Amino acid sequence: HARDLAVVKAKMQKAVVVLGSATPGIRSYYNARTQKYAFLELTQRVQNRPLPRIDIVDMKAQKEAHGKTPILSDTMTLAIAETLARKEQSLLFLNKRGFDTFLVCGDCGYNFRCPNCAVALKSHLAESIIKCHYCDHTQKSMPLCPNCRSGKILSYGTGTQKLEKEIERLFPGARICRMDSDTTARKGSQEEILCALEQKKIDILVGTQMITKGHDFPFITLVGVIAADTSLNMPDFRASEKTFQMLTQVAGRGGRGTVCGRVIIQTFNPEHYALQYTQKHDYPSFYSDEIEFRRALQYPPFSRIICLRLSSGKKDALMETAQETGRKARELAARHGNAVEIIGPSESPLAKIRGQYRQQMLIKGRNSRILHAIAFDLMEKHETSAVKITVDVDPENFM
Ligand SMILES: [Zn+2]
Ligand SMILES: [Zn+2]
Repeated sequence: HARDLAVVKAKMQKAVVVLGSATPGIRSYYNARTQKYAFLELTQRVQNRPLPRIDIVDMKAQKEAHGKTPILSDTMTLAIAETLARKEQSLLFLNKRGFDTFLVCGDCGYNFRCPNCAVALKSHLAESIIKCHYCDHTQKSMPLCPNCRSGKILSYGTGTQKLEKEIERLFPGARICRMDSDTTARKGSQEEILCALEQKKIDILVGTQMITKGHDFPFITLVGVIAADTSLNMPDFRASEKTFQMLTQVAGRGGRGTVCGRVIIQTFNPEHYALQYTQKHDYPSFYSDEIEFRRALQYPPFSRIICLRLSSGKKDALMETAQETGRKARELAARHGNAVEIIGPSESPLAKIRGQYRQQMLIKGRNSRILHAIAFDLMEKHETSAVKITVDVDPENFM
């Protein structure tokens, strides 16, 4: 990671690094709060710009009103119509970093999480099971919600194309543009879209995360987040942190000029602390909730993680090597007095990429010297050329 490299390099050169962010990483903020880093705070916004107003819409209530959950809530539809009438621009954001669909209880918003790791479980419809992609915990898909006994378990999700179609249907006169990996594959096409946006040739822009960073659009006065749950349900212990950062960045896209922007976030979990503190623009409170979760489950910054990724074109060889590597890892962990925890191996959330099957295993513990020693040992003992193993220290994602 570039940040880690900068810190190491500065140490070697005896230089000072300034880490600046409106949404600092939990680890950096922890280091600042525990006096490992010096802490400086800006208490005023640039030019004292007002913060956007953020509304959270509960999609569970939408289901009751419409019979089935619509892609756009009434609040969102009305806000888009008003923005169109004012001849201003709307940005509708669909996060694609998580799974395409997620399971949620339509009555109470319950999310299926791993009892061991607290990360979201992924549903495998074909086998009617749900599965943890950290520790391989597997359970049968449940017909009833374990929290409220409701039978309304929804598999919810939508793509940019489907969203675009829905907007065309609702707003036939509007100039709509989609910006995702499909429409920006050609070189220069992203610039064209951004240029059209700047010249007010687009009324509604539908897009994925690429529009969240680095661009400033003064005429966008409405930002709509279609499903915050996609991000909250990432199979990653950092899902809340990433959601808070993503939402804060997306919210910052609108109303940077003199007009104050409005942000609408659709979700099945309106009470989730990542959303509540995003709404209040309150990073310190978000941090104090998040750090307690990390402490309780001994996730970083209270430990370090090394992710071992195994991949192969041959599924059987991969499974065999993964099991063998897991067994060896547990042996090595025992030799180190079990100061480290071996989690997995299990199928990676993206189980197959470009013909390569993928498995992953986590080595977690407080002592990074022991973690590295175990990873090094495993790599040395690895012989099968049919299976590739790579080591990812402090991984940024677990897909
Ligand atoms: Zn429920
Ligand atoms: Zn698990």
